Amino acid sequence: MADVNQGTVNDVLKGTGVVGGVRYASAVWITPRPELPQAGEVVAEENREAEQQRFDIAAETVSKRLLERSAHAEGPAAEVLKATAGMVNDRGWRKAVAKGVKGGHPAEYSVVAATTKFISMFEAAGGVIAERTTDLRDIRDRVIAELRGEEEPGLPDVEGQVILFADDLSPADTAALDTDLFVGLVTELGGPTSHTAIIARQLNVPCIVATGAGIKDVKSGEKVLIDGALGTIDRNADEAEAMKLVADSLEKAARIAEWKGPAQTKDGHRVQLLANVQDGSTAVQAANTEAEGVGLFRTELCFLSATQEPSVDEQAEVYSKVLAAFPESKVVVRSLDAGSDKPVPFASMADEMNPALGVRGLRIARGNVDLLTRQLDAIAKAADDLGRGEEAPTWVMAPMVATAYEAKWFADMCRERGLVAGAMIEVPAASLMADKIMPHLDFVSIGTNDLTQYTMAADRMSPELAYLTDPWQPAVLRLIKHTCDEGQRFDTPVGVCGEAAADPLLATVLTGLGVNSLSAASTALAAVGAQLAEVDFETCKKAAEAALDAEGATEARAAVREVIEATQK
Ligand code: PEP
Ligand code: MG
Repeated sequence: MADVNQGTVNDVLKGTGVVGGVRYASAVWITPRPELPQAGEVVAEENREAEQQRFDIAAETVSKRLLERSAHAEGPAAEVLKATAGMVNDRGWRKAVAKGVKGGHPAEYSVVAATTKFISMFEAAGGVIAERTTDLRDIRDRVIAELRGEEEPGLPDVEGQVILFADDLSPADTAALDTDLFVGLVTELGGPTSHTAIIARQLNVPCIVATGAGIKDVKSGEKVLIDGALGTIDRNADEAEAMKLVADSLEKAARIAEWKGPAQTKDGHRVQLLANVQDGSTAVQAANTEAEGVGLFRTELCFLSATQEPSVDEQAEVYSKVLAAFPESKVVVRSLDAGSDKPVPFASMADEMNPALGVRGLRIARGNVDLLTRQLDAIAKAADDLGRGEEAPTWVMAPMVATAYEAKWFADMCRERGLVAGAMIEVPAASLMADKIMPHLDFVSIGTNDLTQYTMAADRMSPELAYLTDPWQPAVLRLIKHTCDEGQRFDTPVGVCGEAAADPLLATVLTGLGVNSLSAASTALAAVGAQLAEVDFETCKKAAEAALDAEGATEARAAVREVIEATQK
């Protein structure tokens, strides 16, 4: 069926591809989670202390094991394992378990009851906090298996290379993955922004998420061919053909590993490749890649657990770590995009019926302008303290701008502080009104994640709607084209900083539409640069035309592939 992301056609299952690469290997299912116990018999009063000790030892063992794995991992993977170990030691959770044991419940049941309570609390909080429920279920299951002396749920022991199948992967499982053995990942649930996807990107393992229940038919030991770019799982692949596709994919990966910037098409049309970062450490990581600067610094991610607004000096310190990682290059700082899926305690609205359509991004500043001016002061201070000048410009942009009035209001405040002023184009209204908005600004950057969500009226967090929240949707591409055309008319640089910029094939379309810069996770940049180096600008323009003219996202991808393949014959 055209344009529907999940499903099965001729034994080829389909999900959302989040890390590209073709692999052919035996499927293996993750070791199942333990059966959850019922309340069971009451533990006699005199045995309750021993029961508590049994729990303490099990929890200790699980936490120690996770920390050991963390010590052997790197970067975000190490952080994820440490954070999961931290949850086993969470005082609130442990207290809730102890209460159950004290009340006469067996340790196993007390763990279930305490976790259920915390899961409801996390779900009620919504957003990124709700996403942590996977971690909670994970520690529950590990501790229960330990208490029963059962095999630890999660990654099975395997001999040769396999493709791991799971309903969902816990962050701890993904982080501990040995990528020499687990050469691909397929999950029924999850989404492009889930933990599984983030770690898979970091590990660079081909990964497909949100396949739907169809993958349940795949048996451990069955050979499958997966394509992480297309999101397909082929159960009927011809072995020889599959091996050839894998060899091609590995050869391409080697080419990507060797790619050196700056990015340009085969005939020398330059596109700036920039990194999306969220703090000093991701900025330093980006500085070690071919990134020419930072195209999106998501400042709100620095303050997700801050209950009080940090002072100007404290904020300046945080921002200067990112600026210092690129002392001689452009850095685009985004003002707080709090609210909706990124609740910042000191800046978010309490209860809204529709948080994605609510007071988020720049809208928060309407009722609390000081919050914004203090942030701009802090950005200006960080830039001044580092002596950043014309060669290392500090650009600032506002999220969720919808009107020309908002653009002007924000730009005036930036310029009063000597900052270069821009706005994100992520609300369809902003694209449609680009001719009124751009004259107030020095640059714009298209946020394709939200632009897609709002254009398609589809929640970006919903796995069921992944086929709609796809930046290949021609409706989204037409808004991008309109923005680029107006950018050329007003001589306003247009960048793209949503996930679309990380898709090498889509990068050719965006380049053809006239985008000047592409900003994505730094690990994704080499694949984009290598793809651009293989096409000329004219092909990019043809690819853009083909995508704009397609009936849907699937057809757009196919049409662009055809345009590019035709030039390679
Ligand atoms: C976007 O919406 O595309 C974007 C880059 O911002 P965020 O993903 O942080 O909402
Ligand atoms: Mg956005």
